[in-house]
Amino acid sequence: MFQPPFVVFKTILIIFAFVLDFSFKLHYHTCMVKRNKNSNTNPKKRTQGMNWIRPVKRLAIYARDGFACCWCGVSVEDGAKLTLDHCLPYSKGGSNHESNLVTSCLRCNSSRGKRSLSGFARSVASYLNHGIQSVDILSHIKRCRARKLNMSEAKSLIERRGGFSQALKGKK
Ligand SMILES: [Zn+2]
Repeated sequence: MFQPPFVVFKTILIIFAFVLDFSFKLHYHTCMVKRNKNSNTNPKKRTQGMNWIRPVKRLAIYARDGFACCWCGVSVEDGAKLTLDHCLPYSKGGSNHESNLVTSCLRCNSSRGKRSLSGFARSVASYLNHGIQSVDILSHIKRCRARKLNMSEAKSLIERRGGFSQALKGKK
């Protein structure tokens, strides 16, 4: 049966519109699936900048812990470069509260990686190899975390400091 050209044209237009609509929906769906997949497998890494802690609070934590690494015991007098270690890593939701932070030498902090407190305490005890048990390290860490910070002492130290205290300004 003969159909006028405008009917054929209209039909083609409708089909084209359907195809366009379908491909748009398909594209949108594919994008959303990809986005959800990415957000499940690659959650945005929780990071913070260099100035995540005030110098006074950093120094107060170092002072609370006796200016020595809570893991291996090396101190500033031994030439240790002090840093702060998050007991529960920040990337895993750990806070910047002093109860979650301990003084750590650079060596311990960088070698701990993602190991748990008890797992790393075992490693430290084995490399120290001088009779210290991992439970001793863990109880020392527990005691340090429970101590109160003396912010006024830290403030006063900063006010009085000379060149030497720049060495304490470790960055994690
Ligand atoms: Zn250490």
